[in-house]
Amino acid sequence: MKTIRLKPGKEKSLLRRHPWVFDGAIAKGGADSGETVRVESHDGSFLAWGAHSPSSRIRVRVWSFDPAQRIDAAFFRDRLRQAITLRSTWGLPSDGVRLVHGESDGLPGLVVDRYGDTLVAQFTSCGPERWKSVLADALLEITGLQRLYERSDASARALEGLPEVTGWLRGGGETALTIQEHGWRLGLDVALGHKTGYYLDQRDSRRDCADWVRRLRLGEVLNGFSYTGGFTVAALAGGARHVTSIDSSGPALEQARANVALNGFDLSCCTFLDADVNASLRRFLAEGRTFDAIVLDPPKLAPTVAHAERAARAYKDLNRLGLKLLRPGGVLFTYSCSGGIGVELFQKIVAGAALDAGVDAAIVQRQGGAPDHPVGLAFPEGEYLKGLVVVRRG
Ligand code: SAH
Repeated sequence: MKTIRLKPGKEKSLLRRHPWVFDGAIAKGGADSGETVRVESHDGSFLAWGAHSPSSRIRVRVWSFDPAQRIDAAFFRDRLRQAITLRSTWGLPSDGVRLVHGESDGLPGLVVDRYGDTLVAQFTSCGPERWKSVLADALLEITGLQRLYERSDASARALEGLPEVTGWLRGGGETALTIQEHGWRLGLDVALGHKTGYYLDQRDSRRDCADWVRRLRLGEVLNGFSYTGGFTVAALAGGARHVTSIDSSGPALEQARANVALNGFDLSCCTFLDADVNASLRRFLAEGRTFDAIVLDPPKLAPTVAHAERAARAYKDLNRLGLKLLRPGGVLFTYSCSGGIGVELFQKIVAGAALDAGVDAAIVQRQGGAPDHPVGLAFPEGEYLKGLVVVRRG
């Protein structure tokens, strides 16, 4: 067993059960890619078992803090079973569910989503990469499913020195699927879609959106960064008269259009714009258009704190435009999925946007990732998605 010895004082975060060891904390030791290592403090006492990533700044990701734990196939089966069993008791209103959420489920570098009869996995670091075959077999065994598609094309792989890999890992067939969410049907493609195919983390926000649209009888809705139209279908299900969906991805908009039709809504109630959201909002403002509800769910603008300042300006500008385009009494659903922007900062940004827009607005609901995207208490980095539902009062 290879050993990684830490510098004096560098054991503190591990003692708090944080699962990462940075390269700068290491006094000596090394191992192959994904190999299990024993992490010890400067005096040789045991701290954790973890997976070694030779070329990443995050040099070790912890599998277990138990000195008696063997890191073998049985260990991975247990961890997977624990994560999957937990979700099976929740009665989630969807057959699209995140079964494994990386560090927060004790499996750093592994994400597994289930869409109906199909599993989709992302292996983003050297540890899960090394155990891929064991993990794949265990996933099929525990779920009783036969199809597992790999989407290891996340940019994080480059930091680990791993190439991009996609394709069927087990089973095969069609990659285009349909799932149920809150009683709606949504088509997606696990090979061609973003991430693993769909944004499951926003499931509850889409339900809330439908509820607000229904309760406040919001007629004219704008869905900015619509992707495959999850919020578009939600707004229509809530009774919206007309929804404008904007995205810069043509294939995503095609899927959005198909999803509207799949749910029996009239396509004449919808406009789909293959365009930049910021430019579109400016054009709407110049044309004097207004909306009863606006959804702004941009991609990750600040992956880390280092990008926060520039991203903050971009978020503020988007939200300023959104608030200006809302009719008094209208509702803004605004999101940030940037790990580098905390919830407090996001609220400040939206407050600044309202000030610049010259509108009086108030937060009426706070949102976050759906429960199948837990945030480990020892792993605050796992908190990335935050949402504010904001009502314009005047
Ligand atoms: N709300 C969606 C998820 C949005 S993901 C859902 O519920 O499923 C972010 C989307 O923003 C992606 O589809 C991406 O294609 C789109 N996007 C990124 N930059 C954009 C831009 N400048 N203008 C328009 N769309 C953009």
